[in-house]
Amino acid sequence: MATILKGKPVADQIKADMMAKIEEYKEKGIQAKVAIVRVGARPDDLSYENRVLKNCAAIGMESQVVELPLDITQEDFMAELKKVNDDPKVHGILVFRPLPKQLDAAAISDALDPRKDIDSMNPVNVSKLFFDDMTGIAPCTPEACIAVLKHYGYDLKGKNVVIVNRSMVLGRPLAMLFLHEHATVTVCHSRTVDLPSVCRNADIVVTGIGRGKFFGPEYFSEKNVVVDVGINPDGDSICGDADFEKAEPIVSAITPVPGGIGTITSMILLQHVVKGMEMQVK
Ligand code: NAP
Repeated sequence: MATILKGKPVADQIKADMMAKIEEYKEKGIQAKVAIVRVGARPDDLSYENRVLKNCAAIGMESQVVELPLDITQEDFMAELKKVNDDPKVHGILVFRPLPKQLDAAAISDALDPRKDIDSMNPVNVSKLFFDDMTGIAPCTPEACIAVLKHYGYDLKGKNVVIVNRSMVLGRPLAMLFLHEHATVTVCHSRTVDLPSVCRNADIVVTGIGRGKFFGPEYFSEKNVVVDVGINPDGDSICGDADFEKAEPIVSAITPVPGGIGTITSMILLQHVVKGMEMQVK
C-alpha cells in the first residue's frame, strides 16, 4: 500500500505562509495585487480566471482583470500590457494563453517585467533557472513537483529521478530544479528505449505525457515515489497519466489525480505574486 501524497496539505501550508507575508506587507501599507490579462472569453479561460480570483480573495490578495477584444492588434495589446507592467500597485501579471494568431506571443513574453512574470514566460526567468540562479520565477507545475516531495520529507540529494516529459513547461525546467537539489536526473520522451525499465529503476518518477492511465504496472516497482502531473479527462472527472488503481499497490508513494499536483500549482502561481512583490518593494 502506497503513501498517498495529497496536494491539499501542501497547498494549505503554502497558503498559510503567503497569508502571513501578505499581512506583513499590508501593515507596511503595501497590498499584494495580481493582474490577469485575458483576450476574448473562452469558457476554459473564464473558469480558470474564476478559480484564480477565488484563491486571491481567500488569501487577501487584490486582483484585476484586463479583458481585451479577440481582434486586438499587437500595438494595442502591448499598450495594455505596459499599463500593468508599469503600475507599481500590480506585483504579478498572468497572461492567458494561447493568444490569438495575430499576436506575437514571444514579443509579449519578452515585454513582461520578469519580476511580474508569475507564469515564467520571460526569457530572463527561463535563463536564470538554467543557470541555477534561484532568484527568478520558475514555472509553477515543476515547482509544485518539488514542493510536494519536500513537504512529505523526501531528501532529493543523490536520488535517481526519471521525468517523462521534455517540454519547456514541465520536463526541462523540472530537470533544472531537481539538479539544484542534487538529484541525478534522466529526462525521457517518446523516443526513449524501454521506458518501463527506466521508470522501474528510479527512486522518483514524474509522469507528464498527457495520456490518461498510460503508465500501467509494468512501469512501477516498490522503490518508486510517483509524482503524477497528467491531467486527462475521465468521464465526469479527471485522471492522471499513471493507472492509479494498478500503481498504488506496487509503489512506495504516489500523488493522486485529482487532488495532487494541480491543487498545489494554483497556490504556487499566487506565491509568485508574493515573491514578485518582495523583489519590487525593497
Ligand atoms: P507536451 O508539450 O505535449 O509534452 C508531452 C511530453 O510527453 C513530450 O516530451 C513527449 O515526448 C512526451 N510523451 C508523449 N507520449 C509519450 C510516450 N508514449 N512515451 C514517452 N513520452 C511521451 O505536454 P505538456 O504541456 O508538457 O503537458 C504534459 C501533461 O502535463 C499534460 O497532461 C498536461 O495536462 C499536464 N499538465 C499538468 C499541469 C498541472 O498543474 N498538474 C500543468 C501543466 C501541464 P516528445 O517530446 O518526444 O514528443
